Amino acid sequence: MESWEGGEPAIGIDLGTTYSCVAVWKHDRIEIITNDQGNRTTPSCVAFTDVERLIGDGAKNQIARNPANTVFSRFQLSLYDLILIICFSHAFIALLIWLSYGILDAKRLIGRRFSEVMVKEDIKLMPFRVIEGPSDMPKVVVTHKGHEQQFSIEEISSMVLAKMKEIAEAYIGGTVKNAVITVPAYFNDCQRQATKDAATIAGLNVVRMINEPTAAAIAYGVDNRFGGKKNVLIFDLGGGTFDVSILTIDGVGKFEVKAVAGDTHLGGEDFDNRIVNYCVEDFKKKWNKDLTGNERALGRLKVACEKAKRILSYDTQTSVELEVLLDGIDFSMKITRAKFEELNMSFFTKCIKQLESCLADANMKKGSVDEVILVGGSTRIQKIQRMLHEFFDGKELCKSINPDEAVAYGAAVMAAKLCGQTTKMIKELVLLDVTPLSLGKEIIGERMHVVIPRNTPIPTKKTMNFVTTADNQSSTDIMVYQGERTRSTDNFLLGSFEISGIPPAPKGVAVLEDCFEIDDNGILTVTSKVVSTGKTKSLTVTNLSGRLSKRQIKKMVKAAEKFKLEDQEFKRKAEACNALEDYIYDLKNKIKRNDIPPKDLKNVQHAIDDTEEWLSTGNVASVDEIERKKEILEFISRLAIF
Ligand code: AMP
Repeated sequence: MESWEGGEPAIGIDLGTTYSCVAVWKHDRIEIITNDQGNRTTPSCVAFTDVERLIGDGAKNQIARNPANTVFSRFQLSLYDLILIICFSHAFIALLIWLSYGILDAKRLIGRRFSEVMVKEDIKLMPFRVIEGPSDMPKVVVTHKGHEQQFSIEEISSMVLAKMKEIAEAYIGGTVKNAVITVPAYFNDCQRQATKDAATIAGLNVVRMINEPTAAAIAYGVDNRFGGKKNVLIFDLGGGTFDVSILTIDGVGKFEVKAVAGDTHLGGEDFDNRIVNYCVEDFKKKWNKDLTGNERALGRLKVACEKAKRILSYDTQTSVELEVLLDGIDFSMKITRAKFEELNMSFFTKCIKQLESCLADANMKKGSVDEVILVGGSTRIQKIQRMLHEFFDGKELCKSINPDEAVAYGAAVMAAKLCGQTTKMIKELVLLDVTPLSLGKEIIGERMHVVIPRNTPIPTKKTMNFVTTADNQSSTDIMVYQGERTRSTDNFLLGSFEISGIPPAPKGVAVLEDCFEIDDNGILTVTSKVVSTGKTKSLTVTNLSGRLSKRQIKKMVKAAEKFKLEDQEFKRKAEACNALEDYIYDLKNKIKRNDIPPKDLKNVQHAIDDTEEWLSTGNVASVDEIERKKEILEFISRLAIF
């Protein structure tokens, strides 16, 4: 193994909805690591088949044949994949995939509860089965090696992370343990903790979790060699989510997040749907027929509309054309860029509103923004670019950083810094992030009492005193929520615990001291203390119901190791089989070229037939057995040749 300055290597992983990317600091710069297929990004996709488990490109390439046992994001599907799925008689599944809101992936489910309304709605549309597991956790059900198996979302994500770890290890030539992992800025504590658990299961030590836009800003900052103090705005608009962040990068490498804003349900999917609705209306007007009742027609329309949207990013007009869309009717409709923009204006305006709110939170005027950095596929839309250009009074937008790699790049810079393997410049990098959502507890009248407001720099610790609300109250429930709504139940319940043993006293006399503490990873610990007795009780997101316990994680780590061994064994077996088949192929060529003496021909042919039949039964038991078969064949042929 190559020696790494400053100790063990540390990698940066962008665990993406659609694709993941891994990078490392080497030779005084960041290297984006290519996978075994030579690709710089790897599909965040896991598949289970009768014989093996596949992760990444291998899993993505077989979605069409095996959608029910493949955990993937629909953005990974090309039109060709869909056609294949339909050909393999999974038309209904294909439709479900395209009708859904891009929520078919582990990242959308991680850290969520099965009982959440949105989760319930989402899983109705999933081609793989999701059931309610213990403690309200969703579990994915697949058939693997002929048996039904259940996996937590953390386990599925851990498989993708383990693949990224493996890719890095192949490049580095040794074990990698330390990693910086990125998460969307708007992930709540449960989602962050669940991502961390997934990394632990994958055998990684998370040295830090950072927000995706922050990582993109670091990539930008490093690339620009910290040329003086700059206020940078990251505008990240993807398929399903929108994140905007404002950071200040100073000349010596201090990255300070000033504010974050966004919408977890705003993105390219919404724009597609507006075109679909427009087409549905057009069809009704022309043919007096309603497409909405026909899922197949709607699914096809959706694919065509997404394609049209992409074209409108570089052409001023295109058409949506579909043969035999409904009742034998061919559909054709022209759509101009102007119409597309008109249809989606309300969404684009929403983005600008979030942008304004982010600037207000950062206490910054738009004129103070030095760089506007575009990240995410939907920022290719011309109108978005124009609106941003105009909003910032004619400022040129920065498109110089690669939107697919910037996040992993920034994460790797942070990893190198935290593990002390870099140049002086990176060592001096300081990252000051903020919490994206307010944290607080429920008080009387189902009201949310904010303890840590959103956009507070982290790490942070805030303490607040509360008094009892009834005479002789001996205990109280601490309900911890995250969100911006006034009514507590409209926010996300992170967890609750009871503190008891409050000495008898009239209402309003006994004092409880609640301490909310957020660490560098954005993970919260809440401690409550009865001031008069000093009795304390605390909770971290780790201990919340619906999260994995330490014991469960340990069990999953073991299962992951078993899986890894099985994968390795499968690979060795496949390689041994290949070697045997190659040898048979060579022997057959020798027979064709008359290289085998006639007297031995029968023996050799018999040995070949025998081996081929053995291979075709599929009962190949072990690598040793395959190698033994090859040795026998080699022995027989050697006898024949010499
Ligand atoms: P991301 O999550 O960053 O990969 O972005 C995926 C979203 O970007 C999807 O909704 C795509 O339809 C959208 N997208 C990709 N390319 C374009 C393009 N040229 N014009 C408009 N939208 C695009």
